[in-house]
Amino acid sequence: MLDLSVNEIVVIGAGQAAIQLAHSLRAKGYEGALHLIGAEAYPPYQRPPLSKAFLKGEMEEARLYLKPASFYETKNVSLHLGTEVTGIDRDGQTVATKDGQTLPYDRLVIATGTRPRQLPELEGLDRVQVMRGIDDAKTLKDKIPDLRHVTVLGGGYIGLEAAAVLRKMGIEVTVIERMPRLLARVTGDEISAYFKSLHESHGVEILFDAEVEEFEHAGSALTGIRMQDGRVIGTDLLLVGIGVLPNQELAEAAGLEVSNGIHVDADARTNDPNIYAIGDCSFRPLEGREAPLRLESVPNAIEQAEIAACHITGKPRPGYEPPWFWSDQYDTKIQTAGLFTPHTHTVIRGDVAGGKFAVFYFAGDDFVAVDAVNDPQSFMAGKQILKAGLPLKATDLQDQTVSMMDILKSLKNQ
Ligand code: NAP
Repeated sequence: MLDLSVNEIVVIGAGQAAIQLAHSLRAKGYEGALHLIGAEAYPPYQRPPLSKAFLKGEMEEARLYLKPASFYETKNVSLHLGTEVTGIDRDGQTVATKDGQTLPYDRLVIATGTRPRQLPELEGLDRVQVMRGIDDAKTLKDKIPDLRHVTVLGGGYIGLEAAAVLRKMGIEVTVIERMPRLLARVTGDEISAYFKSLHESHGVEILFDAEVEEFEHAGSALTGIRMQDGRVIGTDLLLVGIGVLPNQELAEAAGLEVSNGIHVDADARTNDPNIYAIGDCSFRPLEGREAPLRLESVPNAIEQAEIAACHITGKPRPGYEPPWFWSDQYDTKIQTAGLFTPHTHTVIRGDVAGGKFAVFYFAGDDFVAVDAVNDPQSFMAGKQILKAGLPLKATDLQDQTVSMMDILKSLKNQ
């Protein structure tokens, strides 16, 4: 039941989670005031294309925006852009902004996202770039004509997606990864090996187990990277993609529980019943896992926004949604459903050499995740199996003449 005493909802953040929340709240009949406060000057926009189509110049800025301007008018959503929240007063139920506003709330939703991890030794240096917001992507895009060589620090999604775009433009790329494999945080050995070959076949140089000794610079301009093995990489730009940190300082200062993110329950509620936290900044429980975790993905932002909107408007919580992710690099699309850690063994189906295959991860007898490379059918089937909790066994996957859709059908009929 809609709680009629809730008439003021303030959302800190104006990203994917925030805009989905606004959409979901209105769709569920919430008619009170709704404020979205964003530090950036842009209305809510999609981040995934920033390191792909937008960087390539294949997508206009306006197409990044998640809603047209008319949405905010017709849905009566107050957008406060370029506005920084400086504090949350939980007793008074208000938030304060840097420009001197005080906004009262009945329910507060924190959707502050994450920020790129930075290295202190790079502070103040030019020719160093992170990739998180539109401004970062625009800056990199503008520099592209002057670049001959880019060094990417960190072999995660950000670095590799950008590396793929830069190589396509003829720019030399060296990736520095301190782990023995790429994408170590997000995928298993087989997929790491595939992406290593993919990037190397496109001429990317990848250094593994590689530690930087010193960033060399002339004045404030970075000129090269001296590695621990003595090699110096001369470069025009260093792209830093070494992970992100949750923006949880406001929550922490307000006395909310935080660790690696803002702690929430299954309804996205913090330890203050009037305050929710959604998206990348939240540390959330997930069905089937003992420990809570922080998920950095668009589907997670959308799911948690929907969960919070349901709770605020007195609607039942939506059903379980397995985490899922995707990335595009060159002509390869990888789609992931579930979480690969922990797992004990894998089953591979398809044609690895031909670049169309899927890796199924099992923890003991339990199917826990699938990574599908140019194989949407395996992704779709795997996601549905996880969502419905169907008992897929490794042996079900052995006969590759049976399609994943047929395997899914027979599991449903069991
Ligand atoms: P990431 O996935 O955490 O990868 C960062 C990588 O950099 C890790 O392998 C990390 O290794 C390594 N690293 C950390 N410190 C390093 C150092 N000092 N020197 C060398 N390597 C280092 O993060 P990201 O690629 O920066 O991406 C940022 C965020 O954007 C993430 O939330 C990511 O999921 C998201 N994103 C997602 C997509 C997608 O889903 N398609 C695309 C782009 C971005 P350790 O594990 O040892 O720390």
